[in-house]
Formats: sequence, structure tokens, C-alpha cells
Amino acid sequence: MEPLVVLDSVNKHYGDLHVLKNISTTVAKGEVVVVIGPSGSGKSTLCRAINRLETIDDGTITIGGTPLPSEGAALARLRADVGMVFQSFNLFAHKTILENVTLGPIKVRGKSKAEAEKRAMELLDRVGVANQAKKLPAQLSGGQQQRVAIARALAMDPQLILFDEPTSALDPEMINEVLDTMVQLAKEGMTMIVVTHEMGFARKAADRVVFMADGQIVEDRKPEDFFTNPESDRAKDFLSKIL
Ligand code: ADP
Ligand code: MG
Repeated sequence: MEPLVVLDSVNKHYGDLHVLKNISTTVAKGEVVVVIGPSGSGKSTLCRAINRLETIDDGTITIGGTPLPSEGAALARLRADVGMVFQSFNLFAHKTILENVTLGPIKVRGKSKAEAEKRAMELLDRVGVANQAKKLPAQLSGGQQQRVAIARALAMDPQLILFDEPTSALDPEMINEVLDTMVQLAKEGMTMIVVTHEMGFARKAADRVVFMADGQIVEDRKPEDFFTNPESDRAKDFLSKIL
């Protein structure tokens, strides 16, 4: 399998706190990797490092064979190639749903407004919110807003999408509509790194589960193996708390 994201001995500190400890892993094109682990274990920092929202102290991260750029046009291109969906949706509050999805393609990808709108409507339709296109984010439910955030990421034609606990701010009845959209994406071959504790999603869609604790990758296994037969005490302890 062709590697898309390669992390090699990545270290990151916040002051004295060593948050990423010698992280090495590879994500192949089309692969879906679920990252799971206790709060504070470094999952968000890992996602943010891959998108260069955070710098790293040493080690390397490459995407498609290219080391992460640190600034300028190359960084803007990287951000366009690596979509990110956050827990808190992060839609532009004063822009319509349609504008939220067309902004990046027009500004960063240089698409015409008509072209961007056509594609945005297709994507909004795909995630089931085309009829909300003229509204502002606050007029939508959390589940709908998160599906818009996914459509917005897709509109950039990313090589990879990072999801950082995309359903943890949602009311329970809205979780599945977002997970279903993500399962669909996974089936279509999107490369995805997903921080989530939703085991149903991991079982249905993930190729691998990466378990992190204390800034380290402690286990990297097939979902079935990880959930039914965790090897480390830390994973056993963690699973006993969330199952
Ligand atoms: P997770 O997403 O697994 O809960 P994070 O990556 O958010 O973990 O955080 C890992 C550790 O780094 C935590 O101890 C957290 O408090 C700390 N941390 C995260 N962001 C910062 C920051 N900007 N400055 C200082 N410490 C941070
Ligand atoms: Mg986090």
C-alpha cells in the first residue's frame, strides 16, 4: 500500500510536558485509522501536528513524500490537502452554509463561484443538508453543522481528512447521522485519521486502531483484536472504563 502520511520519531513538548514521545507510524492511501486513548494522551496534538497547526520539536512528518512546509503558499496548500473536522464544528457563524463550503475552493483552489457552488450543493446533498444551504450555522442542529463541516472539508478535494472527536459535542440522537456520513466516506476510499471513542465506528470502518497513552503509541492493531483482546494494561484499563 502506498504510504500517504509518514511520522518518524516525532517529539513535541509543551514546556516541561513531553506530549508526543517518539511517535512513528504510517497511514496508507485509503486507510482509515482510529486513534483512541485517555484524555490528555496527545491525540489532538498529533492531529494538529499533521495539519501543521502545531510545530514539532524533532522527527519528521511527510505527506505524499513531502515534509510539512512551515509557511507561505506551500503551507496553505498543505492545509487544503489535509482537511480537518473538529469537535466544535468551527463553521463561520456569519456566513451561510453554502458560503462556508464555497469559501475555501474559491480563495485557495481558485475555483469560480459558479463552479464552487455547484460542487458545494452536490456535497451538501451527499451529507443530507442541501435544503439548509441558505441558512446560517446557528439555525442548524449540531449534527447538521458537523455534516456541513465534513462537506466543507470535502470541497477542497483533500488527500486526507483528520477528525478530532467529531461527535463528542453532539446530542446522542445526532451522533449516528454524523458517523453514518463518515462510514460512507471511509467506504468511498477517503484516507481518514479519526480520534473517536465510538467503537461502532471503529469496528465498521477502521483498518487499524492506534491506542495512545501518555504521548506514546501503546498499541496499533486491527479493531476486532484491540477491542476483544487488548494487550497492554493501559488499554485494558481504558477499555474497562468506556465499554
Ligand atoms: P488529548 O487530545 O489526547 O486529550 P491533547 O493533545 O489535547 O490530548 O493534550 C496532551 C497534553 O498536552 C495534555 O496534558 C494537555 O493539557 C497539553 N496541552 C495541549 N495543548 C497545550 C498547549 N497549547 N499548551 C500547553 N499544554 C497543552
Ligand atoms: Mg483531544
